[in-house]
Amino acid sequence: MSNTAAKGIADHRPLADRHAIVTGGSRGIGLAIAETLARLGANVTIMGRSQSTLNERAAELSERLGAKVRGERLDVTDPELIAAAFRSAGERFGAPAILVNNAGIARAAPFAKTDLTLWQDVLSTDLTGAFLCIRQVVKGMTDGGFGRVVNVASTAGLSGYPYIAAYCAAKHGLIGLTRALAQEFAKTPITVNAVCPGYTNTDIVGDALDNIAAKTGRDRTAALADLVSHNPQGRLIEPFEVAEAVAWLCLPASASVTGQSILVAGGELM
Ligand code: NDP
Repeated sequence: MSNTAAKGIADHRPLADRHAIVTGGSRGIGLAIAETLARLGANVTIMGRSQSTLNERAAELSERLGAKVRGERLDVTDPELIAAAFRSAGERFGAPAILVNNAGIARAAPFAKTDLTLWQDVLSTDLTGAFLCIRQVVKGMTDGGFGRVVNVASTAGLSGYPYIAAYCAAKHGLIGLTRALAQEFAKTPITVNAVCPGYTNTDIVGDALDNIAAKTGRDRTAALADLVSHNPQGRLIEPFEVAEAVAWLCLPASASVTGQSILVAGGELM
């Protein structure tokens, strides 16, 4: 037990030499998660759809942090690209010990305008993508004696919101997947948790504000005030705040935390 305790939050590099994969690691919350895990000593593979963007971000993090960060292209809706990306990442840094399913899209529309294409795009990216990525890592984590799966869900995984039925369904599904796997893997070295941010200061929120402005004619400042009014702290969450919660779940000392959905939302839900 004393060895495990030494790998807690006070340890400078508690994730030293562990391989962490972060999907959607090219920007926003995923990039902040990649940086935080790299600071804790992990060798990090960031994954997304643009190899050139990933290469730039990985080079910048590697140089600034003196860490090993690499980019691997995948589309989480494509099982073959997922298999190829995980194979290549595993050849470079070894079997992944940490998987952060962060890649996601948000599409807003009234239910009457939520067509099957929108529904399937959101479900296949935000839910099925996580399922497919988790399938890639379970055996390696079990054999390696250590595994952390963290799913980046949302407040929309725990409560309903209007005009985002597909997103709410996908994120509720992601929390269901988290809970089921936490139960199923409880006797293995793998923990499975979710982190649920409120509105966070990234491109997703920027795009949502543009969308509201275009569809309603309201100005962006008023639309932003509306969004942050959900949060009792009256502000957007910053990506690093989500990243710190994810990193804590990945620590060796967090081994007994599993099946949880940790809100990082300024008290929006309790
Ligand atoms: P961004 O739009 O800033 O980043 C999304 C990331 O996901 C990018 O790296 C993007 O890379 C990647 N991505 C999107 N689609 C795919 C795909 N099909 N295959 C692989 N990668 C993909 O979003 P955020 O950082 O804001 O969001 C990250 C996660 O946090 C999402 O799951 C989102 O639902 C969740 N979240 C965000 C909130 C917010 O307010 N921002 C609030 C609650 C949850 P690329 O485009 O290069 O492929």
